[in-house]
Formats: sequence, structure tokens, C-alpha cells
Amino acid sequence: MAYVISDECVSCGTCADECPVSAISEGDGKFVIDADLCVSCGSCAGVCPVGAPQEG
Ligand code: SF4
Ligand code: SF4
Repeated sequence: MAYVISDECVSCGTCADECPVSAISEGDGKFVIDADLCVSCGSCAGVCPVGAPQEG
């Protein structure tokens, strides 16, 4: 399952830089993960200051 970013996201952008497959982009009010690209490595969850990315 792909990771999903919750509404806790504060749009800092840190996770987008860490994603090895560039699956994360800025969305409307929060960053979003393209489920078709995400390989569930967990890197985004590891760097997020608010724990927004979670395994979907
Ligand atoms: Fe990218 Fe890995 Fe996060 Fe999926 S789990 S969005 S591949 S950093
Ligand atoms: Fe949002 Fe966390 Fe990603 Fe920052 S690192 S953009 S708070 S999900």
C-alpha cells in the first residue's frame, strides 16, 4: 500500500526532497503522494516533523 499524507501536514516540503521516486508534490493546503509511484519505503514518514505520512 502507498503512503498517504494526513491533514497534519504543514507543507514544509521536507518529505518531497527525500522521496526516491519523486512521488510527493505540493497539493491544495498539504503535500500529496502519488499512489501509483510510491514504493512504500517510509522515508517521508522518517523525516516529517509532524508524522503526517502514514502507511495507507
Ligand atoms: Fe516516497 Fe517512500 Fe514516502 Fe512513498 S513512502 S512517498 S516512495 S518517500
Ligand atoms: Fe507535510 Fe510532513 Fe511532508 Fe512537511 S514533511 S510537507 S509536514 S508531510
